[in-house]
Amino acid sequence: MNTNNNAEQQSASPKKTSQQRGYKSNRKRRTNHQSMRVKNTKKGFNRKPHNQHKKQPIPELAENDIRVIPIGGVEQIGQNMNIIETKDDIFVIDIGIQFSSEAETPGVDYIIPNVKYLTERKDKIRGVFVTHGHLDHIGAFPYIIDQLGYPKVYCGLLTKWMIDKRNAEFPHLEKLEYEVVKPGDRITVGNNMKIQVFAVTHSIPDAIGFSFETSQGNIILAGDTKLEHINGAPVQREIDAYGKLEREDQKNLLFLSDSTNAEQPGWSKNEEDIIENIIEMIGEAKSRVFLGTFASQIVRITAIMEGAHKFGKKVILEGRSMKTNVDICIKSGRWIPPKGLIISADEAQNYAPDKLVYLLTGSQGEEFAALMRISTKKHPKIKFNERDTVILSSSVIPGNNIAVQKLKDNLSRHGLRMVRYQTSDIHASGHGNQDELLWIQKTINPKFFMPVHGHHSMLRAHAQAVVERNGHNPKNIIIPDNGTILDINKDGFTVHKAKAPNNVTVVEGFRVGDIQDVVVRDRKTLTKEGIFVVIATIDPKTGKMRKSPDIISRGFVYLRDSQELIQGARNLVKQSIIRNSKGKNPVDFEVVKKKLTDDLGRYLVQNTGKRPIIIPVVLGI
Ligand SMILES: [Zn+2]
Repeated sequence: MNTNNNAEQQSASPKKTSQQRGYKSNRKRRTNHQSMRVKNTKKGFNRKPHNQHKKQPIPELAENDIRVIPIGGVEQIGQNMNIIETKDDIFVIDIGIQFSSEAETPGVDYIIPNVKYLTERKDKIRGVFVTHGHLDHIGAFPYIIDQLGYPKVYCGLLTKWMIDKRNAEFPHLEKLEYEVVKPGDRITVGNNMKIQVFAVTHSIPDAIGFSFETSQGNIILAGDTKLEHINGAPVQREIDAYGKLEREDQKNLLFLSDSTNAEQPGWSKNEEDIIENIIEMIGEAKSRVFLGTFASQIVRITAIMEGAHKFGKKVILEGRSMKTNVDICIKSGRWIPPKGLIISADEAQNYAPDKLVYLLTGSQGEEFAALMRISTKKHPKIKFNERDTVILSSSVIPGNNIAVQKLKDNLSRHGLRMVRYQTSDIHASGHGNQDELLWIQKTINPKFFMPVHGHHSMLRAHAQAVVERNGHNPKNIIIPDNGTILDINKDGFTVHKAKAPNNVTVVEGFRVGDIQDVVVRDRKTLTKEGIFVVIATIDPKTGKMRKSPDIISRGFVYLRDSQELIQGARNLVKQSIIRNSKGKNPVDFEVVKKKLTDDLGRYLVQNTGKRPIIIPVVLGI
């Protein structure tokens, strides 16, 4: 995954509200249409006085309208999925995952798009179109593709291999049917939908965009995009790719555009320059070079390997995802390494240190990744020395700052030479900055515009720039949420009040389903406050305690140093149980437990300032 490798993207300056700016926002329904659909959404039409919580029904799609729904990826980085629906067909674009954060959703492996809208209309699905092979665009395939009834997958060659590799870990899945497409292809899918495939620049080979030539005009999705440019002038290949989508009889109606780096001014660094800089460093190195980068940066990785070869050097790959991705490139035939270039860590001892280049994972300070293990002297085969050069060719993903600092400290202890992206041009994002995005938008020149792929502030910054700097009419911009239903035709559009189901769907171990708020809340409490278990045995008739209660705690306080607190708790347990069971025959255990939890909770927070999860076990014997 390569989408959130930008430390810069956290800055989210307050933006004006949609009403202030005058954009179409899905939060407030308005319509440009004078069409019949207006009566559908007339005040009161959907009103449910007896059940305010009942969801708005999803309106039928009008005969000549095209429906567009960003199912995921417009309130976060990840879980990218968009759909285009006509009267007869549904086309799905990308099936991505979002990596979950330990702080927000502890214990959750991934967050995936909610596909209820699609499963309810499974018969209309004509294909899945995949822009490129990063996990935030393909990672949810194994959890979702069977629910969609295994539609045909249209994608580039490397993307196909990446999807198959991803699915290989899920043996219950059926084999997918693919149609490998390439830039310049114009394919027909479903009920005569023509789809143009065009090349986009990203950090992985075979990244493509799709232009769906609907009866109302082209609906264009470019996936993750940046531009290859020379000092802010895009190369001819880019001009051709974006400039030729519109034709006399086929206008560009709507463009959905990557917003990841919309808040970053100017042009992003050219990947070509980055690669050149790194290769130059490798050439000049008098001893071993270790390059830490994202395994998703496949364009960079293969180019650097070829560069190393030119200097007669050998390459050692370390880290599972690094090895896997290079392996997929080779097996798919997408990249053939020069013979003898890649060697194993064991073979390295047969070469002089200045002939060795290591490509490693772990530039984010991941505990078990190659870089960290070598830096903490835990790697069985590789040891650093002060003649080595370590190049950290990646930015710091927000949230990883502490881990990366630890990595840098560990590396520094070896007295080696460290090159970081802040001081040298050795890393560029795979996503274009604002000026690139504006160039693409202007070149495509769609009538309507929808920023996607990013947090809300990124979408809004993108929309704002398109209005202020490209002069786009703000009324023709739609800033969506996950599940926003947009019905569009060449005259206008409607953003419906109803949304496609969009409640958070998670993968937790073997379970796929709704997020269980209570479980997540408990996990958060457990990590912060700990757990406190009381076991009391009482006479079920009288409520009298058989013996002093047992107390067990984890992650709360160190019991041995807290005898006074524990003794106080024991006394309190006795009093609480007696008070709530006395004179009751039989004793109501539920009441006893509830009161005990309340009493203990109050006591513990007063004495420790902490609120552990309290589990009362009251046994009647
Ligand atoms: Zn990507």
